[in-house]
Amino acid sequence: MNLSSPSVVQKILSEHGFHFSKALGQNFLTDASVCPRMAEHALVRDGMCALEIGPGIGVLTKELALRAQKVVAVELDRRLFPVLEQTLGEFSNVKVVEGDAMKLPLAELIREEFGGQKVALCANLPYYITSPLIMRLLEEKLPVESITVMVQKEAAERLCAKVGSRDSGAVTVAVDYYAEPKILFGVGRGCFTPAPKVDSCVIQLTPRKQPKYPVEDEAFFFALVRGAFSQRRKTILNSASVGTGLSREVLQKAIADAGLLPTARIETLNAEDLVRFANAAYRYRKEGAK
Ligand code: SAM
Repeated sequence: MNLSSPSVVQKILSEHGFHFSKALGQNFLTDASVCPRMAEHALVRDGMCALEIGPGIGVLTKELALRAQKVVAVELDRRLFPVLEQTLGEFSNVKVVEGDAMKLPLAELIREEFGGQKVALCANLPYYITSPLIMRLLEEKLPVESITVMVQKEAAERLCAKVGSRDSGAVTVAVDYYAEPKILFGVGRGCFTPAPKVDSCVIQLTPRKQPKYPVEDEAFFFALVRGAFSQRRKTILNSASVGTGLSREVLQKAIADAGLLPTARIETLNAEDLVRFANAAYRYRKEGAK
């Protein structure tokens, strides 16, 4: 069964009376070359396993199943289960799990399903959960070798941007802190059914063994970063209080300690500046300052 042929996909889906859900980000890949390439990038060694989020009708799942020892695919939309039984029935190494990838305890699932084996996460992500899901995977330090995902082009540029550049955001800082990001290749909107309004990219995040910078308190650091980026046009003196609750007086001291200008904006700070500032602010917080 050629799962990357638009007419085959339409036929299978109409047999099952399935209609695409825009709300669930259901744009299925219907280009023969993309899924094999993603699977090759994810499964770089023999005997690896794969965790997929959102298998859809199983086009990427099938390519993963051909190369991995075992594949576990988490799908939220129950309507796809009978479809997946039909399309993946021949593979004894695939297990489809029902659930919301934002809520399922993924680390536990990995432990239970794969034991100590090496696991790659590979997915064509529903666009509406791209950033929160990636943040979750990184913050929870999910035990995977790599995260190879299709995301909208704009999201790819943000996720893989240089910290301190115009494209950067809170998620850029998190990605850079926890992983080594790389844009692998672009994928045009015409490779999907239905075609979305924008192009996509496949990116790969390789979790670092150790976080990249010496952050004193991760929760405080990311609260500051998230809060300040939510007011990215304001100066750090004004925006850094959002996530930290610290007063202007305390922030003024932390900004001076870090050797920064109070008029700087969060999006212009490079990683070293950000960390110096957050660590300085954290020290005041630890001393009980408000
Ligand atoms: N992997 C398929 C492909 O490449 O054609 C489908 C990709 S489609 C962009 C996203 C898939 O994620 C859909 O199957 C959708 O139902 C599923 N999905 C949406 N939200 C989800 C969630 N919170 N948890 C798990 N799966 C989800």
